[in-house]
Amino acid sequence: MDFFSSFLHQKVPRSGKELPVYYRKALTVSEILLIAYLFVCFFFYPLFLEVWIWIPLLFIAVTGFGLWITKNRGMRENLLVYAVLCAGWVFWNVYAFGWSSGVQHFLTLMVVFIFFDVYEKPLIKIGCFIVILVYRIVLFSWSLQHTAIYAMDKAVNTYYQTINTVGFFVMLAAMCIIFSTSIQNTERELRLRNQTLYKEAGTDPLTGLPNRRAMIETIEKYCKSEPESPFAVAIADIDFFKNVNDTYGHNCGDYTLVKLTELFAEHSGGRYRVCRWGGEEFCFFMPGMNIDEAGVVMNDLCFAVERMKLKFEENEFSITITIGVEECDFNSPLEDLLKSADEKLYMGKNSGRNKVVV
Ligand code: GH3
Ligand code: MG
Ligand code: MG
Repeated sequence: MDFFSSFLHQKVPRSGKELPVYYRKALTVSEILLIAYLFVCFFFYPLFLEVWIWIPLLFIAVTGFGLWITKNRGMRENLLVYAVLCAGWVFWNVYAFGWSSGVQHFLTLMVVFIFFDVYEKPLIKIGCFIVILVYRIVLFSWSLQHTAIYAMDKAVNTYYQTINTVGFFVMLAAMCIIFSTSIQNTERELRLRNQTLYKEAGTDPLTGLPNRRAMIETIEKYCKSEPESPFAVAIADIDFFKNVNDTYGHNCGDYTLVKLTELFAEHSGGRYRVCRWGGEEFCFFMPGMNIDEAGVVMNDLCFAVERMKLKFEENEFSITITIGVEECDFNSPLEDLLKSADEKLYMGKNSGRNKVVV
């Protein structure tokens, strides 16, 4: 029921005049196959049926015209030509040879075309479907009341049914291949695009580090998958970073952030993950470590930053960072741990900077 209701309420893109690419392909292939099939009928008629052979020729001509406009114009009205063709061909066959000619299946092709049109509203699709259904039922009851003009004997009827069935199934398969390939391609492209967007949304463009949202997700994932394992978090802030910007320029500030990121990557050795928490603040996640172990690692990092020589356009300088560390107590929410690390960071700032507070 939900499925049906979501079909009814689906939003459709604005149709536009042009046929969608996959639709143009399906229509072209379908019309080429129809011409091939009509040619078979054209040779079949004089051999077994004493009917006007110009009928298949007429349909070949109309289909050829349809193919030409599909290729050159590609307008949505081409579907109408195709629908008239199918309906006309079915009508002629039922009228001439009766229901047993098996041509009524061609109406199914129209149903496929209708329901795979992503640009049409569901109600219009259902409306067209009902029209086709009614047309089929009316034709059938008409064929019961009227005898066919040309009676086919059993063998000819079998040949003709076979031609029609093969023709129909080949066209149906071709359309299904085109439509399903198109859906698969769209789905794959969307997924890949989503993955890229998701990654981009969780990445800081300047440093290439994960951002706050991505880091919180990482830690929450860890807590869920390993609820018994300890971990520590730390928040680091560059000391007097404003001075770097004010003295050497904003570009130098950016350069400093990138260099610091490179240092983190070298220093980490897989012991921690780091993200850009905001401005000139970074957050560290140290899985499997208690506060003492994390404190040692962060102290080592603090020294490494202090020792790092920075050079930007003839200006040589160095920076220091202050870090607050907190460990998981298996009780408090992540938010509280991070808040506690932040409070320790500011204790460090107030007590001289360039230090780690555990
Ligand atoms: P403190 O030791 O107390 O942290 O001093 P601070 O100067 O580092 O702190 P403050 O909050 O006064 O200044 C932070 C500066 O960081 C201000 C802001 O312009 C700079 N900043 C934040 N993000 C960026 C960035 O992406 N690039 C550059 N160049 N500067 C940034
Ligand atoms: Mg700062
Ligand atoms: Mg700050």
